Amino acid sequence: MKFEMPSVEVCGNNMEWFWLTPQDTTHNNWLFYQENHRLQLRDTYREIACAQCGKVKLFDALQLPLESSVRIRTTHDFVLTEDGVICFSQRAFDIYQQYQLGGLEFIQSTVLGVTDWHIVLPKQFVPVDESIAGFEYLGRPCPRCGLYKYGTAIGPLKESLTLPNNPLTIVSPSRYRENIRGIQTWLLGSHFVREIMEENQITGIDYVNII
Ligand SMILES: [Zn+2]
Repeated sequence: MKFEMPSVEVCGNNMEWFWLTPQDTTHNNWLFYQENHRLQLRDTYREIACAQCGKVKLFDALQLPLESSVRIRTTHDFVLTEDGVICFSQRAFDIYQQYQLGGLEFIQSTVLGVTDWHIVLPKQFVPVDESIAGFEYLGRPCPRCGLYKYGTAIGPLKESLTLPNNPLTIVSPSRYRENIRGIQTWLLGSHFVREIMEENQITGIDYVNII
């Protein structure tokens, strides 16, 4: 695909941006927890769990090595684990490299089932003006770790974000939405990123217009 940089007038917040939203998968995938009869935090993460609410912080957990029994089960190229981590298939990772997209780091993991999976670590965060972000906090924040009991809903709204001029950079908001277990990775891509992903038939992403 031929790529031409857009003119300055159509960059940043004037460009069309999408939440790269993972589609549901048939199986629940977990990195830090395991489902036996009930959901349990894996041993590796016990010592970093909040002593008050029991949640683990995503980026702290990703510093620790994955347990070898972790598996990703999906036919998609782009998947969100139930504990909030986005993973790229080898194919999605190759497209990211081939088109020289930016904004992410990857942890390669050969333990995640048969295929090589790449765990996404966002590295370019865009500022969020929390006064206009529209976050709705659900329940009280934990007095120890600050995560909200039931997470957050809505937001951040587009007007609260300062989006980059480079349309090939995949970014994350500096203040994340939370789910019931803690922080969840959210990625934003321009319509150029969308075109690249669609043209190469990368599966598992819904492109949700940011509002
Ligand atoms: Zn806590």
